[in-house]
Amino acid sequence: MNQQFSLFLSRVVASLLAMVLALSAMGFFLVWVARSIDSEDIRRQAELAGYAIGEVRANISHNQESSTFWDEAVKNTAGGGNAEWIDGNLGTWMHTFFGIDEAYVLDEQNRPIYAFADERPKAAAFFESRRDVLAPFLQALRAKIAAGEPPAEGSQELSVGVADYVYIAGRPAIVSAKPIVSDSGELEQPLSTIRIHVVVLYLDGAIIDRVGQSHVLEDLKFVASGQGDPRRSSISLSSSIGSAVLSFQWVPFRPGQRLLASLSPVLALVGSVLLIGTLVISSASYRRKLDRIRNEEHIRYLATHDPLTGLLNRSAYERAADELIEQFSTRQQSDPLAFLFMDLDRFKQVNDILGHQVGDAVLVEFARRTCEILPANAPVYRVGGDEFAALIPNRTRREIEQLCSQLIDSLVEPMEFDGRRAFVGVSIGVSMAPYDGSDRAELNRKADVALYHAKTAGRRRFSIFGTQMDDAIQNRAAMEAELREALRTKKGFSVVYQPKYAGHGSHMLGVEALVRWEQPGRGMISPALFIPIAEEAGLIADLGLWVLEAACRDAVAWPVEHLAVNVSPVQLRTAGFAETVLDTLEKIGFPASRLELEITETDFADAEEAGMQTIKTLNAAGISIAIDDFGTGSSTFERLRNIDCDRIKIDRSFVKSITESEGDSEIVRAMIAMAHAKGLKTTAEGVETAEQRDILRSFGCDELQGYLLGKPMPPQDLTQILNETETLAR
Ligand code: C2E
Ligand code: CA
Ligand code: CA
Repeated sequence: MNQQFSLFLSRVVASLLAMVLALSAMGFFLVWVARSIDSEDIRRQAELAGYAIGEVRANISHNQESSTFWDEAVKNTAGGGNAEWIDGNLGTWMHTFFGIDEAYVLDEQNRPIYAFADERPKAAAFFESRRDVLAPFLQALRAKIAAGEPPAEGSQELSVGVADYVYIAGRPAIVSAKPIVSDSGELEQPLSTIRIHVVVLYLDGAIIDRVGQSHVLEDLKFVASGQGDPRRSSISLSSSIGSAVLSFQWVPFRPGQRLLASLSPVLALVGSVLLIGTLVISSASYRRKLDRIRNEEHIRYLATHDPLTGLLNRSAYERAADELIEQFSTRQQSDPLAFLFMDLDRFKQVNDILGHQVGDAVLVEFARRTCEILPANAPVYRVGGDEFAALIPNRTRREIEQLCSQLIDSLVEPMEFDGRRAFVGVSIGVSMAPYDGSDRAELNRKADVALYHAKTAGRRRFSIFGTQMDDAIQNRAAMEAELREALRTKKGFSVVYQPKYAGHGSHMLGVEALVRWEQPGRGMISPALFIPIAEEAGLIADLGLWVLEAACRDAVAWPVEHLAVNVSPVQLRTAGFAETVLDTLEKIGFPASRLELEITETDFADAEEAGMQTIKTLNAAGISIAIDDFGTGSSTFERLRNIDCDRIKIDRSFVKSITESEGDSEIVRAMIAMAHAKGLKTTAEGVETAEQRDILRSFGCDELQGYLLGKPMPPQDLTQILNETETLAR
């Protein structure tokens, strides 16, 4: 989860962050562009404002000339001046038409002859209140006139003039002074006689509003120094006459910001789309990457695990084995490292008989039980179909033995799936480093040898590797080859017969056929040894059939009630077994009612359906079924109810102990009683002493068999005994 989260961070958040950064950079850039546009435009607006106000000044001078550059004006201002004319052309008129605020006419001595202020003509003496401010203008103009200076170049003015900014009683104003001169040039005007016209236009009133409106400078107005608003733009105009500085401010037009404002919804939309797109694309790619990682994890899991049981698999086992051996040799542990090989007993049968589903369930259940028992640092590996392994570090031999016993005991109880019971056991082989070697191949091989040993010693066992085992294996392989050859030629086999007597009296009820194999190099070999080999090598069906035929031929004429023949569970499960038996009986002419088949109890428990069906068929044909070695397996009388059997053969081990332990003798008594209660006959096998015989008799055992009464013997010996008893009876 953590890894996935950090991956999420690295994928999605990183992409989003990158996109946000890119968008912010773009945003900053746009703002920067807008600012530059704005400051450029504001600079232009300042120029415009300066130009517009300058134009007002130029216009005043120009408008002034419409009256001052005129012969009539010279005439009417001469002497004391024509007051009415002056007012009509140089005072009130100018106020009305050009909006000037004050006007003065001064004679050659700069003495006032006319004054206009506060929207009306005033006494000429009013000029005195302005003299100080206006004197520099008069002086400058007179100097220009005296110097004969021409009108300002580039201007539309016809006469020389002086115009500039100034403060009058604290109000900003433009002052323009012009000489009153002849336009025709026909009037004689000595320089000393020239009179001057001065106008004042205040810049804090309507005129500036108009300039602002006509030049689109919002709220353009004069501001006194120190009263400026820093959010507004401003220009300062300084006069060259005197030192007045006039400041004007307006609300600047910011086209960049306008543009941004109008674009911002679009930009926000584009930004959101890009962010969402990034989110979608990056999370999709994150998901793809995650899928890939999960796939890789899954593949890695599959590469090291068994999908059915969830256990680690063979390749994981090999890696772990190498690592542990390496650690073992470098760390110098005091206790050995154990290699455990576990193989389920009769698993193939469970699979064949109960089906693969139950087989799978058995494997899963076995894995579960085994994991519970083994220490946490020793995981269980599934290394083959029904083969498992474990590597147990740092345990004593005794501890390993205890673990093995626990594993075997954990399978004593049958497994139950949907009401179907599966009896499986486990055989375990163990090898130990450093005693048995120090490389994987060697330790594996020896654990395998030990496992084989455990299997052949009768299953549900464990064995720890010993050097003698290697020899045993060699022997076994050789024996299998010889057995195969002997079966091909049918040479070396014979059948011996062991009589079985009635519990009461001395009447021989039947005989049990027991196979013998004499091998030229080895002598007589016990069936206890070669039957399991025949079973495993797939030779038992052949051998079993041969015994059945031989026994039937031998016994067909014997005056005994029945002939008992041992049947391997492998035979019982072979398809068509019942038919083969019946065909053989018919061929020889042996009555089915005289044949009894002995099936070992442990195998019987496993037989389940397929075997059950075979037994039913045989039983229906009149053949009896006996359960051999009764008491050694996991069956109970309860189970016998479901099996069509006729007899139980109480195992040798019980017979042996009836004289030794009261508890065991009670068990045997109960067995016989219960068998009778269920309508089953009883045979006690391995009767070796008269005491055993007497006790069994007292328990009401139906049939006795053992060395005391008769050893297995060749057919001719048995014929002889039968003849003798017949003669005796006669
Ligand atoms: P089993 O069916 O339990 O056969 C009885 C075994 O006990 C025989 O050993 C017999 O010789 C032995 N025995 C009889 N009476 C006594 C006694 O009083 N004391 C002692 N200690 N042993 C006694 P055997 O012949 O070596 O057979 C061993 C096993 O081999 C048999 O056990 C049976 O499971 C198997 N076997 C023998 N012949 C055949 C055969 O033809 N087919 C199959 N499938 N299995 C066979
Ligand atoms: Ca038997
Ligand atoms: Ca037996």
